[in-house]
Amino acid sequence: MCQMIVFDLLCAVGHRFEGWFGSAEDFASQKQRKLLACPSCGSVDVERVPSASRMNLGAPGPKPPKKPETPGKTPDMEGKDPFAIAQMLYSRMLDELLTKSEDVGKEFPAEARRIYYQETPARAIRGLATEEEHKELVDEGIPVARLPVLPGRLN
Ligand SMILES: [Zn+2]
Repeated sequence: MCQMIVFDLLCAVGHRFEGWFGSAEDFASQKQRKLLACPSCGSVDVERVPSASRMNLGAPGPKPPKKPETPGKTPDMEGKDPFAIAQMLYSRMLDELLTKSEDVGKEFPAEARRIYYQETPARAIRGLATEEEHKELVDEGIPVARLPVLPGRLN
């Protein structure tokens, strides 16, 4: 009876190749006597690596269907009611908006206009505008949004 087994081998440099052996002992013995050499570089520093193809002999089972996840949902939201989650998402969005925009303070209406009329590089800004100023901006067609910013959020 003559049965050969195939091992995936990896040399010290990282070349991957196959070796055929009569048995696992045969492999060990050849390695011991440095008869095993990488066909690419001749290195005798050869390790056996698990064969990706030969280890999965069984038919792959059906993959569990991936649960559709709510975008932006994180583990700390598990078990919370939708209203609480919406609040958390909103507060996170607000935080992002506040950290990524430039605070122009009371200059906001003027700066928003300059950006709109391309007199200054476009960027995200935030600041203060009175009810009247806000209305004027909207009337001019300038896209501004009012945020009910929590007290202490704006300097
Ligand atoms: Zn090699």
